[in-house]
Amino acid sequence: MGTGSAPRTVRAPRGTARTAKGWPQEAALRMLHNNLDPEVAEHPDRLVVYGGSGRAARDWASFDRITAVLRELGDDETLLVQSGRPVGVLPTHEWAPRVLIANANLVGDWSNWEEFRRLEALGLTMYGQMTAGSWIYIGTQGILQGTYETFGAVAAKRFGADLAGTLTLTAGLGGMGGAQPLAVTLNGGAALVVECDATRIERRLAQGYLDERADSLDEALALAERARTERRAVSIGVVGNAAETVPELLRRGAPADIVTDQTSAHDPLAYLPAGVDFDDWADYAARDPEGFTRRARDSMAAHVEAMVGFADAGAEVFDYGNSIRGEARTAGYTRAFDFPGFVPAYIRPLFCQGKGPFRWAALSGDPGDIARTDRAVLELFGDDDHLSRWIRTAGERVSFQGLPARICWLGQGERAAAGLRFNELVASGEISAPLAIGRDHLDTGSVASPYRETEAMADGSDAIADWPLLNALVNTASGASWVSIHHGGGVGIGRSLHAGQVAVADGSALAARKLERVLSNDPATGVIRHADAGYGQAEDVAREHGIRLPMSGD
Ligand code: NAD
Repeated sequence: MGTGSAPRTVRAPRGTARTAKGWPQEAALRMLHNNLDPEVAEHPDRLVVYGGSGRAARDWASFDRITAVLRELGDDETLLVQSGRPVGVLPTHEWAPRVLIANANLVGDWSNWEEFRRLEALGLTMYGQMTAGSWIYIGTQGILQGTYETFGAVAAKRFGADLAGTLTLTAGLGGMGGAQPLAVTLNGGAALVVECDATRIERRLAQGYLDERADSLDEALALAERARTERRAVSIGVVGNAAETVPELLRRGAPADIVTDQTSAHDPLAYLPAGVDFDDWADYAARDPEGFTRRARDSMAAHVEAMVGFADAGAEVFDYGNSIRGEARTAGYTRAFDFPGFVPAYIRPLFCQGKGPFRWAALSGDPGDIARTDRAVLELFGDDDHLSRWIRTAGERVSFQGLPARICWLGQGERAAAGLRFNELVASGEISAPLAIGRDHLDTGSVASPYRETEAMADGSDAIADWPLLNALVNTASGASWVSIHHGGGVGIGRSLHAGQVAVADGSALAARKLERVLSNDPATGVIRHADAGYGQAEDVAREHGIRLPMSGD
């Protein structure tokens, strides 16, 4: 589809002076621009921020009008954005969000890619992914932190405080999967990663995400075994096809404690079948997509069978959200679902505590402001070793893309404490300009996604989508600066509904009151959702934090 008037290079305004009438409006304006900064966005010329076609605005004409409206929007007005297009401005009040966003929503029977693409081609909708269309994407720090959190949760479940003395076997060093080796070593473990594209290995070595490259499987296994025995946090990459290498490692009795995979198995044309030369991949897939798909699925079945073999041998094995189990089952492998997806296995206990991907961006553009927030997080939560290790490492190793930003997983009570402290630091001038505080939609109370975040809920409520809608309404009622309701993020059209919020810490007393409400009520909807589904841990958290559950007699 067309994207309106001419593309141009966009970057968020910086500094301590605003051009909009209030900081919430200025924050929305800077974060919209930041999402399209070439350092942040994958294809800024097409307004695509990340995740295939996740856009920040419908087209350049819409982008220009959103920008113009935000500059003049009053503190008692609200801009409506319908799938990336500004469609109205209404009188509201100072506690109301300055922007309300709905992206890619379709009526149930029409919720499929075909219909979505038809409407998109007519210029009537856009795909907002999760944080693309809600203006709070902060680049690849998010995936590194999420992967760090997952492996931390694997450690907590099975191996103790960290992954020291364990070996993780995985495959795929692409855009998302490339975070795996660093996430494992940050948790203290050793990692062996199989990747069929040598250039991906080189790139991750150059970025410091991967430590070593082995020239053969023998060498890779020897290095990995030594690192595990010596309890060293080292990651090793080896060129190979996972459909052949993972079964071979099983046959050799490789001492893998954790096995997962992040090849792009969700798309059979993006998974290299066993026996196909890497250089023939593109031609073969284009020439005979059906034959290629069959071979890819058979290979995935062999790959998953080996993963089940590792599980039988006692390893911790999980699907990392790439649908490899589903593809293997389609190919006829009946034990494909003998190991769990990562959300029910590790993330749900975090969701029960109201934990999720809390994040913030410094609107000043000054990295010193984020350094000050890092210190504040350590001052507040210094006794949490896992969190402290992330904050310290991120400060040293994460390079900012666009406006300086930070992400860490915080739970019920913690988010409000952090937001209020940040607001005090803005008020006192220790932080030079306001902060935009938001989160991913992959959060405790804000998403219904039966193949990912809500897979295998205890009460079978995986596809119930009232929860993200309630979440958005709650954030609107609690003082968020902008609120969004999206469809299809993460797993595609027809498969998820989810909501986002951003609240601005501008140092004012009003902002403090709003932050306390939003940053308490937003995760509270997650605690409530999980308590309602029967998770006792969430009921305990609700009691501890005074969250009332009428059906439990509170
Ligand atoms: P990507 O396409 O950038 O990278 C995939 C990598 O796998 C490529 O480097 C490719 O060369 C490699 N590969 C393909 N077939 C292989 C084979 N047979 N053996 C070895 N290597 C092979 O994808 P990405 O962005 O890194 O995402 C990876 C997968 O993870 C996707 O399926 C994605 O949907 C999924 N994902 C899940 C989550 C989540 O829920 N945790 C988050 C993001 C991505």
